[in-house]
Amino acid sequence: MKKGITMKILFCSSEVVPFAKTGGLADVSGALPIALEKQGIEVNICMPKYGSIKEQDYHIKKLDDKVSYCKIGKKINVYFIANDNYFNRAGLYGDKIGDYVDNLDRFLFYSKETLNLLKKINFKPDVIHCNDWQSSLIPIYLKTSYHKDKFYSKIKTLLTVHNLAYQGLFGKDQYPKLGLDWSLFNIDGLEFYDKINILKGGIVFSDLINTVSEAYAKEIQTKEFGCGLEGILLKRKKSLSGIINGLDYELWDPATDNLVFKKYSPKKLEDKNINKLRLQGECGLPQNKNALLLGFVGRLAEQKGIDIISNNLDKMFQSNIQLVILGTGDQKYHEILDNLAKKYPDKFALSLKFDNTIAHKIYAGSDVFLMPSRYEPCGLGQMISFKYATVPLAFKTGGLADTIVDLEKNKTKGNGFLFDKYEAKAFMGKFNKAVSLHKDKNTWQKILKRIVKLDFSWQESAKKYKELYKKCLLSG
Ligand code: ADP
Repeated sequence: MKKGITMKILFCSSEVVPFAKTGGLADVSGALPIALEKQGIEVNICMPKYGSIKEQDYHIKKLDDKVSYCKIGKKINVYFIANDNYFNRAGLYGDKIGDYVDNLDRFLFYSKETLNLLKKINFKPDVIHCNDWQSSLIPIYLKTSYHKDKFYSKIKTLLTVHNLAYQGLFGKDQYPKLGLDWSLFNIDGLEFYDKINILKGGIVFSDLINTVSEAYAKEIQTKEFGCGLEGILLKRKKSLSGIINGLDYELWDPATDNLVFKKYSPKKLEDKNINKLRLQGECGLPQNKNALLLGFVGRLAEQKGIDIISNNLDKMFQSNIQLVILGTGDQKYHEILDNLAKKYPDKFALSLKFDNTIAHKIYAGSDVFLMPSRYEPCGLGQMISFKYATVPLAFKTGGLADTIVDLEKNKTKGNGFLFDKYEAKAFMGKFNKAVSLHKDKNTWQKILKRIVKLDFSWQESAKKYKELYKKCLLSG
């Protein structure tokens, strides 16, 4: 790219804070474009217009029947692809019963309309930055049907994989609706055990691929973490890298956070205690400042390690601890946790919902944040915890391994508890260490003072994305 010419990016994501969120992808999609704009890049965003997005809340205007838009950051246009039939529903991807059965139609519509939008608004990006399977059809179409059109032929693509476990798998009977040649339905294309795999297609057709931590980029090339895609990822090894996510400190900073009980800055960490006592009170737990308060906020999915917590809870409650869990997800975990909450009403508070306000209160009020994920592409909970002077206890994997330094292994730089074998003994070992260290008030305060200084802002990661876009432009 010539000097003095502004780089143009279209950022495609199925969820973007503040408009719609089910997890970390939304946090990234809300913050990274703004950080990119600060790097001098011209960015626009395109996402589906879900029923929960209300025009009046964000000054959303209509472009035409299929597209509306609003502005964030300085000059970022957020384009919403509308189709009431597809997107005007309670959930983003599914409901209690499971994934919506027409998810392929929904994100096929979104992908094609996103590409059509570019011509409509005459915005020719240098790179389309796609995220996860929901926007993975875009690189596929760009390299196939849209490639013949001069407007699109030079546009490059980057695909960021936020979680390899969600691949967009569909029966091959649906293949004709994609309008793609059957020759692409093979082991080097979209076929995966006789099904359509949209993420795999994205991995094959994107110019470059990245994931959200360096460790996860390596892990997914192995059978253990590759979710069946390790072969294709190994093939594209040279085009695959990892960039750790940042955290949006405009949203996550206890000194300015309107959602916590009492704001606190690194200079007045003692005010964190007020948040702890209020959280205990609000959750119906005894207000006890000496009890170690463990917090968990996250999707209740196998990935997040709910079972290692629930299986060991009887033992954990023999120590002077309390637990607050906020989450929603698999019915199985709702039931397991519900039963445990009934068994330990004075020790365990459970909230089975998605609630951003409660989440902020838990990050602020807890002493230790539990994140025993079996795998974790990046993870935001541990970074949020650092800022809120809450010590993370996590499994050594992916982004958790890249951001947490174990306190037992490194006394001067340690910032959390990391168990490195996924088994009860290792987990309980770190849990017991947390309980005993918490009793040593001086040491605990020193740790808190150290972790609040850690900086995981988007700036550095945005610079790395800029370099990756440049690399995209030089590819193929
Ligand atoms: P993932 O993207 O795998 O769900 P991350 O750790 O990357 O996990 O991001 C999860 C984000 O979603 C965090 O901002 C977390 O606070 C938020 N979150 C998850 N579950 C809930 C919930 N039940 N209520 C409120 N916020 C939640």
